[in-house]
Amino acid sequence: MPDARRPYIAGNWKMFKTSADAREYGQRLLSRLPMGNGVELALCAPFTALAATLEGLNDSEIKVLAQNMHQEREGAYTGEVSAPMLLELGVHGALLGHSERRQYFNETDRALQEKVPAALEAGLQPMLCVGETEEEREAGETQRKLRHQVQEALEKVPDDRLADVVIAYEPIWAIGTGQVATPDLAQDAIGFIRALVGDRSGDAAQRVRVLYGGSVKPDNAAEILAQPDIDGALVGGASLDPDGVVEIVKAAAEQVQT
Ligand code: PEP
Repeated sequence: MPDARRPYIAGNWKMFKTSADAREYGQRLLSRLPMGNGVELALCAPFTALAATLEGLNDSEIKVLAQNMHQEREGAYTGEVSAPMLLELGVHGALLGHSERRQYFNETDRALQEKVPAALEAGLQPMLCVGETEEEREAGETQRKLRHQVQEALEKVPDDRLADVVIAYEPIWAIGTGQVATPDLAQDAIGFIRALVGDRSGDAAQRVRVLYGGSVKPDNAAEILAQPDIDGALVGGASLDPDGVVEIVKAAAEQVQT
């Protein structure tokens, strides 16, 4: 794994945790996490808990990401939140295109084509989620779907910024189902995504981090993270407990040492 591809673990809290929960979580996490472990760690918190999450993490290196972001800086978009608003709070990035947003809130590849470069330009780290449904996999459509999602979302990102996007491959059939992808299957899909970035820039393909997400738990993280193209994990359910995050970070830290 090239140096630039520091292992990355991100926890997605979804619509869980109040500000009080977030503060307590941060303190518990910091008291258990081995420091200097070489792993980049981020928590994707609900908008209302972002400030408290940052406060609970007490200026540590742990990043805090929003779970969505509007592409415009400001405007008549009731209920939306923009990049400058997140930056003002001290937020480091935004999860974009999570399958739950695509499925329940009509997030489109066209909107993501604006959101990803808008996040980069504002100085936020975009974490772009892509992945196929079970029906698409069974119909042999996985690569077609991934190609479409990756190419559309990255279309307006300049080649020299491609490696600043973190991509999370999340097969929809594996999210919240307990049905984790086999390491080989995840490696194949993530190798394919890296090659898609390579179609734009060989250098970016070497440096871009691609994570796996879908029912990652402390007991299955190591074998997934050992795959050559998998640079980390986006973790939903298991991230609700800081102890789960600590165990997964330890599994990722092993990859730094090997
Ligand atoms: C997610 O929310 O992105 C996710 C992968 O969830 P889970 O780990 O619960 O499958």
